[in-house]
Amino acid sequence: MKKILATAFVAVFVTLASAQKPAIPKDAKIEAKIEKMLSKMTLDEKIGQMLELNLDLMGKMEMKNAKLDRKKVELTMRGFGRTDAEIKKMFEMSDQEIIGMLSQYNLDIYEGDTKKEWIMNEFMLDTIISKYKVGSLLNAPGTRAATIEQWKNWIGVIQEKSMKYIGIPDIYGLDHNHGVTYTQGGTLFPQPINIAASFNTELARSGAEITAYESRAGNCPWVYNPVIDLGRDPRWSRLWESYGEDPIVNARMVEAQIRGYQGDDPNHIDQYHVATSVKHYMGYGAPLTGKDRTPAYITPQLLREKYFEPFKCAAQAGALTMMVNSASVNGVPLHASYEYLTKWLKEDLDWDGMLVTDWADINNLFTREKVAKDKKDAIRIAINAGIDMSMDPYSVDFCILLKELVNEGKVPMSRIDDAVRRILRVKYRAGLFDKPTTGGKGYEKFGSREFAEKALRAAEEAEVLLKNEDNILPLAKGKKILLTGPNANQMRCLNGGWSYTWQGSNAEDLAESYNTIYEALCNRYGKENVILEQGVTYNEKGAYFEENEPQIDKAVNAAANADIIIACIGENSYCETPGNLTDLWMSKNQRDLVKELSKTGKPIILVLNEGRPRLMADIEPLAKAIVHILLPGNYGGDALANLLSGDANFSAKLPYTYPREINSLANYDYKVSEEVGTMAGAYNYDAKVSLQWPFGYGLSYTSYEYSNLRVDKTSFDSNDILTVTVDVKNAGQRVGKESVLLYSSDLVASIVPDNRRLRQFTKIELQPGETKTVTFQLPAKELAFVGADGHWTLEEGDFILKIGQQTVKVACTSTKIWDTPNI
Ligand code: BGC
Repeated sequence: MKKILATAFVAVFVTLASAQKPAIPKDAKIEAKIEKMLSKMTLDEKIGQMLELNLDLMGKMEMKNAKLDRKKVELTMRGFGRTDAEIKKMFEMSDQEIIGMLSQYNLDIYEGDTKKEWIMNEFMLDTIISKYKVGSLLNAPGTRAATIEQWKNWIGVIQEKSMKYIGIPDIYGLDHNHGVTYTQGGTLFPQPINIAASFNTELARSGAEITAYESRAGNCPWVYNPVIDLGRDPRWSRLWESYGEDPIVNARMVEAQIRGYQGDDPNHIDQYHVATSVKHYMGYGAPLTGKDRTPAYITPQLLREKYFEPFKCAAQAGALTMMVNSASVNGVPLHASYEYLTKWLKEDLDWDGMLVTDWADINNLFTREKVAKDKKDAIRIAINAGIDMSMDPYSVDFCILLKELVNEGKVPMSRIDDAVRRILRVKYRAGLFDKPTTGGKGYEKFGSREFAEKALRAAEEAEVLLKNEDNILPLAKGKKILLTGPNANQMRCLNGGWSYTWQGSNAEDLAESYNTIYEALCNRYGKENVILEQGVTYNEKGAYFEENEPQIDKAVNAAANADIIIACIGENSYCETPGNLTDLWMSKNQRDLVKELSKTGKPIILVLNEGRPRLMADIEPLAKAIVHILLPGNYGGDALANLLSGDANFSAKLPYTYPREINSLANYDYKVSEEVGTMAGAYNYDAKVSLQWPFGYGLSYTSYEYSNLRVDKTSFDSNDILTVTVDVKNAGQRVGKESVLLYSSDLVASIVPDNRRLRQFTKIELQPGETKTVTFQLPAKELAFVGADGHWTLEEGDFILKIGQQTVKVACTSTKIWDTPNI
């Protein structure tokens, strides 16, 4: 009987297993090598592979002529949210002690001519690798971009020692997020939020491909990108790092980026491609407080249907690694969740990639989240949940404590072997055993004109025209322009965070060769025609939100000599927790600047340059034209000049909903009951979603006409594929690109339906007068939602499909409820 049961079990298991397609098909040769290597490894060697340390630890920042400015220290600490008491305590230390403590970070806390140089300590590196067998290092010293020569040298030495002491290459990781953030002279592209606005997946692919090439030029094989956190909360400081609020946009962009970064075969990454770390798995982008790394509360339906979707697509597109969300969802820190890490990702998708923690996040399980009683407990929880590699930047405690846990039987050896297999797998797949270093010959295109040209074209496709009254744009030559606002002459603002430094601050020297908006407009319209009077400026020495005493009068006076005003407003650069805010409204100084300027009667063009949509309802009516450039990168100023002058045409659309009121922070796919007319009877119940501009909104210098929307079948069931077709005509006088967005609405459902959902999109180019027919193949199951019981559900009933203003009704003829977690 026992035998019969066992056979039955095996049969069921085999059917289930064969029904499940691995996210990345395994390469038998690589698997054999992994097993051979694993069989030779000691426990210490295995555990060492599971640790990732910060490069800072392997050297020291030498300070030449360092004199501390305590005022700057105070401002910096306040910027990081330190309390008065904490700052007072720090000031009990001597200047030298404070320098010793802070010199490894790239902070502006010195006076005079302080120079910093990071010197590698090879003795320390020897110890870390030979004694602790550490398998990975990350980050740029002082989080500041190094030269390509430095990278080649540093990673070269690390690989030499890794091969010598453990015979396993290191996997070095960098936040090369919108280009090679941490390599001087490389190419920086528009931030992902801009690429989302382009709705052009090819830009995502080619940008990633160039970033991979330029990373490998410096020996770096692993990037902490793409980010697909769904920026659904406009208050969150990392919204701009991902592709906006929609799961499908994030999913298609991440697939394209993975192809760009990794190439076409995830098992064999060549020397011009890198392994990706898709992040931050999952639900990071919706903190209830709006503040970074604080808890999110996301319904199970929403989590499965929207937040998980891009990660699922990333795994299936071959992402070799993923980084885990630092915070918690519904009270469960992701780093402690067996359900989300092992079940959803590794088992349900049969994904054999590697999971790395975010910065010190195992420690955070006990220091911040309080789900573990000490570090050892935290390691036990995280490793058993499914973490494979711990980014524990400053300590080797992990090695000691994890070994104890294994010896005590609290972490099974099978889990260690599984984690190490995954780590070795990514090292084999990335080709590191054959070629631990890649830089040198063959990377002549690093920082080339060819790459710059691509970044410029991407920026042109990624700046959104939101308003153009009386066709005030394009702006002809010959007019006198007053250029004003804090973002008018700063590279830092164009690039945003993760640009040469973590916060994007203190890096103007590294971006000097690129054009600010002022410089780009001078090149286009002649310096004599552009008056620069900023009126409001940022305090570059303070926190990102600090501004200097405004000088609005000066700008207003300067307007007298101008025909037109271009006001560049928004935010200074920031990233992560230092980018938290207390008020979503755009700064009062900046809004006052626009209000005062409007009294001159001169037409105003607003240029919004910001990482998230700052409220500006009171100044919107004062502008004749509005261009939202988001964070367009090093070529964002040049792209703007091309667009304003009409040498290029606008084609971007908003990748998120731009809110109008603080109490109406809806996403585009809000529930139907969030927007209803007034109820009849005694009480005037209603509901209104109040937007400044909707998701998907964007103008152009030409206009498009949609017609003839049709579907090949008006009724369908869950097995069908609908062929949806529409004609799009360029009805204007100029060539243009148009993003064609296909939405669906489920008219009646067993849980309150979303008012609309983006299902597919594409981008086409049209000559004046030209018509193209766009066809989407829409599998009916893409119209399913996750029901109240957690099951994917497609219900009988009517749906509306919509493209442009065209709609067509289709009907699902039978309900289907899936019992698999993914469909
Ligand atoms: C960020 C990650 C980043 C990591 C390594 C963390 O603070 O959340 O996005 O990849 O640091 O630099």
